[in-house]
Amino acid sequence: VIRMQGICTRFGDKVVHDQLDLEVRKGEIFALVGGSGSGKSTLLREMILLQRPDAGTVNVLGLDLHTANAAQALALRLRFGVLFQQGGLFGSLTVLENVGLPLREHRKLPSEEIDAIAARKIALSGLPPEAGAQYPASLSGGMLKRAALARALALDPELLFLDEPTAGLDPASADGLDLLIQQLQGEQGLTVVMVTHDLDLLWHAADRVAVLADGRVQGLGSMQELSTLLQPAVQTFFTGPRA
Ligand code: ATP
Ligand code: MG
Repeated sequence: VIRMQGICTRFGDKVVHDQLDLEVRKGEIFALVGGSGSGKSTLLREMILLQRPDAGTVNVLGLDLHTANAAQALALRLRFGVLFQQGGLFGSLTVLENVGLPLREHRKLPSEEIDAIAARKIALSGLPPEAGAQYPASLSGGMLKRAALARALALDPELLFLDEPTAGLDPASADGLDLLIQQLQGEQGLTVVMVTHDLDLLWHAADRVAVLADGRVQGLGSMQELSTLLQPAVQTFFTGPRA
């Protein structure tokens, strides 16, 4: 469902991606890992049309992004959900209103129906119904992630992008999110692309993991397969950098 070929990305003199190739298959949970600054978030931004690579081609859900017109790009955006590193809920709106926002913007539906869909997504994300009436400031970190996830799911996406979904969560909340991500993939047939450092999440949930280093994918496979690869970048990922 995603194919990136020959991706080159530079910021000034810094080469972030150097002829990078990558493919995400339909229905899988695909993870991007790599050291800080290895270009994971940038790659994710290139997949969701927030940024263009300097060279290379990106095809998402059958659309070539470099040739797509604005209307095609907008239509494509509505087919994926994104959970950003910071969450990004509006503090002045309740959780129910936050989750309903994309529906209000992109679906012509009566208000009660939007609230009903939003409530279903809130339940799907593992939040209690009362959470809908709460404001983001009154939620715990784990609940905030779930609320942001509910909003990402509002428009029934085919593709879900997650940037560090378990960062900053206590282990119990993180474990709950592992299960939820797997459940979504299994029951809703979603394809999930996530950036994460969370080894538990990777071992439990990821079907395939790509290790990014020096501008390219240095290793690719299940965690089991990766753990047997001898590339230095892959080994560093498992053992941490040597002192
Ligand atoms: P982290 O694990 O810290 O989130 P990352 O792998 O997500 O890292 P990116 O955020 O993709 O890394 O950044 C890759 C490199 O590109 C970094 O060196 C970063 O400083 C640089 N970079 C990213 N965005 C910009 C930008 N808008 N302008 C200049 N440099 C940028
Ligand atoms: Mg990042």
